[in-house]
Amino acid sequence: RLWHQPLKHREWNGTGSTAHFQDIFLGRCYIYTQLVQPEFRDRDCKKIEETFRNAFIFKDPCEVTEEDYHPLMELTSQTVPCDKTVFWSRTKELAHQYTWVRQEMFTLENTLLGYVADGLTWCGDSGSSEINYQSCPDWRKDCKNNSVSVFWKVLSKTFAENACGMVQVVLNGSLSNAFSKDSTFGSVEVHNLHPEKVHTLQAWVMHDIGKSPSDSCSGSSIMDLKSIMSKRNIKFTCQDNYRPVKFLQCVRNPEDSSCSLRM
Ligand code: NAD
Repeated sequence: RLWHQPLKHREWNGTGSTAHFQDIFLGRCYIYTQLVQPEFRDRDCKKIEETFRNAFIFKDPCEVTEEDYHPLMELTSQTVPCDKTVFWSRTKELAHQYTWVRQEMFTLENTLLGYVADGLTWCGDSGSSEINYQSCPDWRKDCKNNSVSVFWKVLSKTFAENACGMVQVVLNGSLSNAFSKDSTFGSVEVHNLHPEKVHTLQAWVMHDIGKSPSDSCSGSSIMDLKSIMSKRNIKFTCQDNYRPVKFLQCVRNPEDSSCSLRM
């Protein structure tokens, strides 16, 4: 009876593609291009979705390359105004709350491709055109370079290459290393900033309210970042608990003593 069973995908250790992946992708694309950034209203979401899908279907998800995503990058090129790029590492929610309030600022997820793909999982199969909803490679157990991580790597690299002026990064001072060389920010974005275009990287080290601070601008991980930037000829500045972001944390924790007027 084996021949009656549907084609079985290879099994991986990670969760499968997000249910309704194509519909979510397409729906988010329309929301972004028609409502969020209407200057993109003439972009062809069906074409973008198809180009995205063609980057990873019919492929072993552990064999997807950066080149596979190049047609997609070309189709969706987007410029962020100078001084408006915000990177983050281990501070996703806070960075997004900040750009939500400061609408003119952009994290990667405020650009079209970052917006449509954020939080989704996708992978294909070398033997078929289908999206694998059963399982996808786990970053640790199966392969580091899979359809999802290669995508974020290419996208993060392009985002950093396109940045100009003064750029910001929101870092997490409640971790023992606010800056990590192994993060996407530390391994990809920092190294793809162009010193001819980016004059300053400004870091904001934020402490979670209610947790004890573990790292700060004077800690050794930030010193590492500072020395990387100095070698790259980009000026570096750092501020602990940058006030505008601290205010956002205080909206959630108005009673905390660090949020009182005197602080
Ligand atoms: P982080 O450690 O907080 O990671 C951000 C998210 O990406 C986490 O969910 C993490 O699990 C995942 N991630 C990171 N590296 C990955 C990889 N190689 N493969 C698969 N998933 C991975 O912070 P980070 O690593 O410094 O990444 C954040 C920075 O890089 C931001 O500046 C952003 O521009 C970009 N980025 C965004 C996403 C995203 O999911 N929206 C993912 C990767 C990178």
